[in-house]
Amino acid sequence: MAAFPKEIFLARQKKLASAMKRGGFEAFLVTSLVNVRYLGGFKCSYGRMLFAGGQGYLLLDSRYTAAARRAAAGVEVVEITASTIDDKVREILQSHKLRRLAFEKSAVTHAEFLDLRAKLRGITLLPSEGLVEDLRIIKHEKEVAAIHRACRLGDRAFKHILGVIRPGITERQVSAALDSFMMSLEVDGLAFESIVASGPRGAFPHAVPSSRKIQNGDLVTLDFGVCLDGYNSDMTRTVAAGKPGGRTVQLYRAVQRAQAEALAAARPGMRASDLDAVARAALDKDGFGKYFTHGLGHGVGLEVHEAPRIGAFSKAVLKKGMIITVEPGVYVEGLTGARIEDTAVVTADGAQALTHSPKKLITL
Ligand code: ZN
Ligand code: ZN
Repeated sequence: MAAFPKEIFLARQKKLASAMKRGGFEAFLVTSLVNVRYLGGFKCSYGRMLFAGGQGYLLLDSRYTAAARRAAAGVEVVEITASTIDDKVREILQSHKLRRLAFEKSAVTHAEFLDLRAKLRGITLLPSEGLVEDLRIIKHEKEVAAIHRACRLGDRAFKHILGVIRPGITERQVSAALDSFMMSLEVDGLAFESIVASGPRGAFPHAVPSSRKIQNGDLVTLDFGVCLDGYNSDMTRTVAAGKPGGRTVQLYRAVQRAQAEALAAARPGMRASDLDAVARAALDKDGFGKYFTHGLGHGVGLEVHEAPRIGAFSKAVLKKGMIITVEPGVYVEGLTGARIEDTAVVTADGAQALTHSPKKLITL
């Protein structure tokens, strides 16, 4: 993130200004810290951004102001405390003679809203949705490169963990080995809590690693990622610890086919719901459709889960520069489950996986 040139942030702020204009917003308060980071290139645990009168303001407390004056792009850094932040917002609005303020309705708690309303008496608060998220959905080539770097580390972690998984080891031991390997790659952190689900526990899509010992013939689903320079990777592979049974192999192959067909079908102009349908139809053909109980995927960027949603009810249309996951899964209670997930970039004429680990069934 720090490596991005200043121009990238200035371009984002310019796009935001256009989006504000389209929405009829003369001033806009950013409370989502991910959006603050996206727009100004500065990471903090408390702070806000205000755009008013063609100027961006970054409101931070004294822990951050010195660093932000060096690192933040295109904005004026204003020192605040938690008790003066709303007064500062009011002062800035008054200095520009503005009486209406848009805020991020999904990134303000009820308590924060009441404070704002009390301190900004006389100023109309306008709820807004997705102003910055809609910009984040299309990635700059430098963002794609950053996510690709994170994905490559995911691939390295997968290769490493293949040497660890064997019958007799517990899911927790596998996740500890996976997590410590990922952390050893000098990343910002894990993208999320790794999922390791073996045998019948594979039927739970979001299984937390348990003390269960992996048995001979089990499928083991591994869903993991790293955060590097602010950007995340997300991948899932399912492997076998010893030779699996016939029905289990069928189940795996169905997921593998569905994943390959969906990845091959993705292209700009396609509805996200139609892409979801491609995977669902492939699984239906193999008799596993009813066991695919979640959406096909999601956007990835500064957050592991961000827009667009790829599912039956998604209204999104794929566009060049989007980063999405393609992750069909089959979960048969009492038997097992499998999921295969790539993070991919939508290109001019298709989609290209950024995670490159093999997808044929690996038997350890
Ligand atoms: Zn995942
Ligand atoms: Zn995912």
